Amino acid sequence: MTRPLWAPWRLEYIKQADDLEGCVFCAEALGELLEAESLLLCRGEAAIAILNKYPYSSGHLMVAPIRHVGSLAELTDAEALEIHRLSVAAMDALGRTYGPGGFNLGWNLGHVAGAGIADHVHLHVVPRWSGDTNFMPVLADVKVLPEHLLETRDRLRAAWE
Ligand SMILES: [Zn+2]
Repeated sequence: MTRPLWAPWRLEYIKQADDLEGCVFCAEALGELLEAESLLLCRGEAAIAILNKYPYSSGHLMVAPIRHVGSLAELTDAEALEIHRLSVAAMDALGRTYGPGGFNLGWNLGHVAGAGIADHVHLHVVPRWSGDTNFMPVLADVKVLPEHLLETRDRLRAAWE
């Protein structure tokens, strides 16, 4: 029996995103970050996919509309569709790169629900492995080296279709 681990309301690490200056989704969408720090995986017409700087598991990424909007109700049909399509492409790239056993997809809406950046909606795509508490411990203070994130970024970019 696999114990469910997806408990976004317990993921304290997400709150670290509050420490960021400004909105990382807008910064990535506008191409404001240097290549050495950008975690952008794919920029579409209406949505982007970026790696999560504070990953729950290796390859944890987020898909967001390019527009800075804070609720699902504000998404246009084109944005909602592209977020769906990018999520599918993300799972495909993750599947071929890391071969996870499954995925959790989830929206944390509002600060009390665990959203670090509550005013720019984003969908978490979290690859999962059988027994992945051993693969990467879920810790509030988990430190992932920038090199590791950039390597993951480059591998996923190469696999992205
Ligand atoms: Zn934004």
